[in-house]
Amino acid sequence: MTVWVLGDQLDPETAPLQHDDHVLMIEAHAFGDRMPYHPQKLALVFAAMRHFRDDLRDRGYEVTYIRAETFGDGLDRFFDAAPGTDLVAMTPPSHGAGERLRELVEARGGSLTLVENDLFLTTPDDFDDWAGDAKSYRQEHWYRHVRRETGILMDGDEPAGGEWNYDDQNQETPPEDWTPPAVPMFDPDELTRETIEFVRERYPDAWGSADEFRWPVTRVEARQALDHFVEVRLAEFGPYQDAMLDGEWTLCHSLLSAAINLGLLHPREAVEAVEDAYRTGDAPLNSVEGFIRQVVGWREFVRHVYRRAMPEMADANQLDQTEALPEAYWTGETEMRCLSEAVEHVYDRGYAHHIERLMVLSNFALLYGTDPAELNRWFHLGFVDAFHWVTTPNVVAMGSFATDVLSSKPYASSGNYVNKMSDYCSSCRYAVSKTTGENACPFNALYWDFLQENEALLRGTGRMGLMYAHVDRKDESEWDDIRARADDVRRMGRSGTL
Ligand code: FAD
Repeated sequence: MTVWVLGDQLDPETAPLQHDDHVLMIEAHAFGDRMPYHPQKLALVFAAMRHFRDDLRDRGYEVTYIRAETFGDGLDRFFDAAPGTDLVAMTPPSHGAGERLRELVEARGGSLTLVENDLFLTTPDDFDDWAGDAKSYRQEHWYRHVRRETGILMDGDEPAGGEWNYDDQNQETPPEDWTPPAVPMFDPDELTRETIEFVRERYPDAWGSADEFRWPVTRVEARQALDHFVEVRLAEFGPYQDAMLDGEWTLCHSLLSAAINLGLLHPREAVEAVEDAYRTGDAPLNSVEGFIRQVVGWREFVRHVYRRAMPEMADANQLDQTEALPEAYWTGETEMRCLSEAVEHVYDRGYAHHIERLMVLSNFALLYGTDPAELNRWFHLGFVDAFHWVTTPNVVAMGSFATDVLSSKPYASSGNYVNKMSDYCSSCRYAVSKTTGENACPFNALYWDFLQENEALLRGTGRMGLMYAHVDRKDESEWDDIRARADDVRRMGRSGTL
């Protein structure tokens, strides 16, 4: 057997690599033409694959590494040289990918055995046993279940500290004199620099800048990134998890998602290192639980929900939203301080932290009426950690509320949320205190318009009652002004003058 190692399975500890020492890797370039992927995303995947190839060779594996336009071309070359080979690969998490690979292999006279993907903490069976026939799911329930089953952050049968969730201690904003701790930056070595140059030449239409590439591309670097996070940033991760600061692109977030999604770092290692810091008294519980909830709860959860809700999830659009994405998402040019900062972060690094993604980028797109599939495409092409299995549930279900499969209400809010959690509004040309009129914060009119437009679906759901009490208090002339302002905002969004 030969192990086919895919580009997001770069972990030498996975089961197939313990049984066989012949490895196939195919660096397929044409996938990068499907959309104008961020150059740092392309460079990261290819550089990590090339380093992993070298690492495996150092460990004694015989690696056939093929650069080709497509998997099909790569497999043609592989099977010309080694007809009839039996391949084994871990099942890719993106919908239908495993079956497509199997067809390609069988069409060339080989066989492909797909085995369990080891790069998660939980298995499809774990989730399916827990969820049964359910068609909608709640993260908090799953999260508690996994902690009970695994013992992660548990003291016997009880959650450490007595509570399951310290979310209410994750919502502080830093004081004015606070400076964020250092962020580890990994200077590209020669192989990575070569790869970045290759990407610049091969993908001239890529969206984003390759200049600031500092991502970990090897397992050793990913481990250093984790250690640095635990030692330097974890303590303040908890309190400032939801905060946004002008000029700060990451605050205390871990920056580990890309490494974890590529297999450079196992989620179990990240969780163990963070829990150890709590046990040794080096990190407070609100930070440790907050991080573990993201990985054990959210990351595992969205993976399984996606698996069960596809293919419908990709095209879901229960709010019938049809607007194209505002121009500002491509240009970064907008006088909305929060939006221009968030888009700039994505353009410069292929990254924005969770609250920028959820409460600025997807919240604004949701209120504006953006087609969820178009927003999903933007996130997919723009972020270094984006893969269909993780981007789609986050953007289509969580961010766009295009399906209620993982939440009972939308993550929608007016400018008040951004004002509460950031210092953007004080330097913004728009007034967050105003809903209508020329300089009113664009979030505000869009928010009320969104609630009214979608009343039939939203009034009775989740905890929306309080917001509809406000809706009910507005009179017709207020609604006329709100609608006029929302129309103006959409016009400005289309013409790039927001
Ligand atoms: P931290 O804030 O330090 O969180 C720790 C880890 O938890 C992350 O590294 C990640 O592995 C995991 N995590 C946290 N939340 C989620 C989540 N909702 N889903 C999956 N993993 C999670 N994450 C991606 O990995 N790829 C994406 O393409 C992606 N797209 C997103 C789009 C939207 C609209 C939203 C709201 C969220 C998206 N996320 C995505 C989830 C989350 O925002 C990122 O994982 C996180 O911001 C990555 O930065 P970090 O490593 O600094 O995370």
